Amino acid sequence: MSGASPLAGQTIDSIRTGLLQKQFSAEEFAQRALAYAEAENSKTNAYLTFSPERALEAARAVDAKIARGEDPGALAGVPIAVKDVIVTRGLRTTCGSKLLANYVPPYDATAIQRLEQAGGVILGKTNCDEFAMGSSNENSAFGPVRNPVALDRVPGGSSGGSAAVVAQDTAVVSLGSDTGGSIRQPASFCGITGVTPTYGRVSRYGLTAFASSLDHIGPFGRTTRDAAQLLQAIAGRDEMDATSAFAPVPDYVAALDGSVKGLKIGLPREYFEGLASDTGDRVMEAVEVLRKLGGEVVDIQLPHTPYAVAAYYIIATAEASANLARFDGVRYTTRSAEAHTLSEMYRMTRDEGFGDECKRRIMLGAYVLSAGYYDAYYLKAQKVRHLIARDFAQAFEQVDAIVAPVSPFPAFKLGEKVNDPISMYLSDIYTITGSLAGIPCMSVPCSGPDTTGLPVGLQILTRHFDETTMFRVAHAYEMASN
Ligand code: GLN
Repeated sequence: MSGASPLAGQTIDSIRTGLLQKQFSAEEFAQRALAYAEAENSKTNAYLTFSPERALEAARAVDAKIARGEDPGALAGVPIAVKDVIVTRGLRTTCGSKLLANYVPPYDATAIQRLEQAGGVILGKTNCDEFAMGSSNENSAFGPVRNPVALDRVPGGSSGGSAAVVAQDTAVVSLGSDTGGSIRQPASFCGITGVTPTYGRVSRYGLTAFASSLDHIGPFGRTTRDAAQLLQAIAGRDEMDATSAFAPVPDYVAALDGSVKGLKIGLPREYFEGLASDTGDRVMEAVEVLRKLGGEVVDIQLPHTPYAVAAYYIIATAEASANLARFDGVRYTTRSAEAHTLSEMYRMTRDEGFGDECKRRIMLGAYVLSAGYYDAYYLKAQKVRHLIARDFAQAFEQVDAIVAPVSPFPAFKLGEKVNDPISMYLSDIYTITGSLAGIPCMSVPCSGPDTTGLPVGLQILTRHFDETTMFRVAHAYEMASN
């Protein structure tokens, strides 16, 4: 399809205004969004499934509410895309895996229920690394996603599709999931905003488990305001997830007043060693903007950072090996046609269904949990996790927010790192620490691209449940740098 996207420049607020002023109906807006997204999808492969019937039904419900003079909801008529690890009732949910190529869930995740209750319109499900394992979206059984900013590059992972659709203007906002960086890193690679809320802030009910103690659902948007509004709609206690927090959800948008005056902003010097020079320069320019706005920049230390990647890849694989045991050929999945005995059914189904990265992690996870190795690896990794969380707690005694890079380098070329899993794992260094600590963290685009024209993300991290300060800093930076 030629021409500009009907979603270009649109925000949650502008769509609401357009609907209430009768500039368009939610139904015609959804129709135009779907037509454009479907026509453009072959460029990036970001959507795996479109849901036109569901989208139009939701849109018509918004129109009916407006016609009756009722409040159409905080996300009224907003075209939203959802990462395909979040289950949707009656709508295929693949987790990027051949094993679930035909899986149609019987229920909706809590986040899905909430965004539809708020009037959101789900256009479809987005491509991702298989079971959210990866940093480039190249581990999907349905082919990689291309970065809309530079089509020969990866969009980042594992929520590559959800980041790409927002950057491509084929959705206004989207949901992703983050276990060790899968929202922040693709947001940074695609030049948009991505938020990992505090662990427990958003219900995980209906999020296919990868590493349960680390998994988060979170929003992508083109602006901090859109991301904050989407988080507002899905956050809060849910009885269906025992780890979802009782903490009250503040009004995030009210905090977006453009001011960081007097805020103490911590700069972990060790996060700036080993960065691509451009990346470091862009992030430091952003720090200068915050300083000019009245933020007080303070050097801090997070001394256990060098151990984070090792600890993460032990804990995450251990949990993954247990969580993925449920895909056994009995439930959910397609079953191997060649199997004749029970044990063949398990083995052959899993052998045919899982991709290399999942197999690697299942083996690694089973190994670190096995008798004799548990204390040496798993238990030690848990101790390191505790020390990393303590590093942050100590830093937050001195500062209100921490700023850092998201990734050591910008989006890399498709194929560049697929055969080098260790280098892929090491690229997660700056996102993994926040994930292990369970604190809120986000990526907001630095004002200009690097010298190769690629976007760079600024990471902002705050105390547990203090998304408000994180959004305040991100928004102030965004306003000042535009
Ligand atoms: N890239 C990390 C990994 O491969 C993080 C993935 C994620 O956050 N889901 O595990």
